[in-house]
Amino acid sequence: MSVPVVPAGPYDDLGEPEPREECGVFGVWAPGEDVSKFTYYGLYALQHRGQEAAGIAVGNGDQIVVFKDLGLVSQVFDEQSLDALKGHIAIGHNRYTTAGGNSWENAQPMFRMAPDGTDIALGHNGNLVNHWELTMQAARQGLVDPKTHPSDSLVMCALLAADTREGHSAEEAAMELFPKVNGAFCVVFTDGDSLYAVRDPQGVRPLSIGQLEGGGYVVASETAALDIVGATFVRDVEPGELIVVNADGLRSRRFAPEKRSTCVFEYVYLARPDSVIRGQSVNTTRVTIGRKLAKEAPAEGDLVIPVPESGTPAAVGYAQESGIPFAQGLMKNAYVGRTFIEPSQSIRQLGIRLKLNPLREVIEGKSLVVVDDSIVRGNTQRALIKMLRDAGAAEVHVRIASPPVKWPCFYGIDFASPLELIANNVDQNDPVERIREDIGADSLAYVSAESMIEASGQPAESLCCACFDGHYPLGMPADDPNSELVKTMQAQQAQGSPADPNPLRQPEHQAELAGQAQPPRRSGRACASADELDEFTNPNN
Ligand code: SF4
Repeated sequence: MSVPVVPAGPYDDLGEPEPREECGVFGVWAPGEDVSKFTYYGLYALQHRGQEAAGIAVGNGDQIVVFKDLGLVSQVFDEQSLDALKGHIAIGHNRYTTAGGNSWENAQPMFRMAPDGTDIALGHNGNLVNHWELTMQAARQGLVDPKTHPSDSLVMCALLAADTREGHSAEEAAMELFPKVNGAFCVVFTDGDSLYAVRDPQGVRPLSIGQLEGGGYVVASETAALDIVGATFVRDVEPGELIVVNADGLRSRRFAPEKRSTCVFEYVYLARPDSVIRGQSVNTTRVTIGRKLAKEAPAEGDLVIPVPESGTPAAVGYAQESGIPFAQGLMKNAYVGRTFIEPSQSIRQLGIRLKLNPLREVIEGKSLVVVDDSIVRGNTQRALIKMLRDAGAAEVHVRIASPPVKWPCFYGIDFASPLELIANNVDQNDPVERIREDIGADSLAYVSAESMIEASGQPAESLCCACFDGHYPLGMPADDPNSELVKTMQAQQAQGSPADPNPLRQPEHQAELAGQAQPPRRSGRACASADELDEFTNPNN
């Protein structure tokens, strides 16, 4: 296994962090093709799903070679490293981690050797709900040390490899492991011979299959990545399905019945607009949301301008429906992202300006309808509105293409802690008006949950909308500090209107609110109770 030098950083995003996917996965089985380059371009197309680490594992039938490092795909790989990755099968991974979790060890693909000498490499998109339970299972088998807080992906890889042995293939090991895994998981893995793709029974995250002209197969987190490597879309990996691709072709096995809960936020913000999820174009969904928003929340304005890029399709829809002209009033630096160069304090203070710059000649003297995909903490919108007013905007009416985000995601998206979300930090008697005041807009409106769901083209009961409504279809991880906050919020909601403007401002959360003990943002790592850890600290227990 190649172990490249770990570079410095990365440093925090410039400006307010946006909600982030915690990974994109790609896999290819194509003898005779340059599989490492296919994977490179597949990961390049999925860069938006993870920008902190990238890796490729290539199998040639004898062994698997893994190359991974911190950084963007284009920073991690060059011609030389890709040329060294020769084989007929490859899997790739883009990772985003939260603070504290970004280390070379957590970059993927994960690698483990089975007792019979079989190499196993695995990449995972999503977050597991029973991460800790599986960690303890792996720890009891001596596969991981729980005190090092192994990631859920490493735990799955370790369990899979440990159960792969003479007469019990990786495929059989997977058929036994994945029914015990609870949470969001799109997994690609290889034993060096076959390519495997697995999707959780709820199908929370997308995963699709494509075919190459030469007959090889590709799996990718989004259909846009299939398009970009020249693969023809075959179908989605079904929830609860294990796909096997090898010299015998493509086979399907079911390890659990389907119980759909597709992430609605993939449609709203996370996925590329040129991807298709469950047969529905992401771009069409966003344009439709914009149209519905214009009907639900009309505004008097001279121009509709998007907050690029994710607000653009909804702004197009808003302009189409309202008849107000569409214009690009903000220019985005397309190359801004995670940076490995630490910004100076004076550069940091520029904040949002490093990402977005207003076009003064377009917006000066105009009443603007500004369309964005979501509001998380509100810092971006506050800075944006001030920037537009400074550039001469007469009025700024903000329209948001999703309902207020109030709840954390346990299934693979990193939002702020519920304590930091602006929708939880204003008077709950008239929250939208309070948020409007806070961000300094002339008017503010969110699209309704019903319209967002309708625009996705999927039945409401087959979607996860937990970050908007607090109903968690896969449950919550017992070891995540945000689970306790959510229970408090749910109890408040059940009692009706909270007495306190902030539903979290309960005595037990005073320390967090004072900033003394903010619950950590989830990083795909398990937390142990003292007793559980003690089991491994003291062998006599
Ligand atoms: S909580 Fe929100 S972001 Fe997370 S899976 Fe559900 S809809 Fe998607």
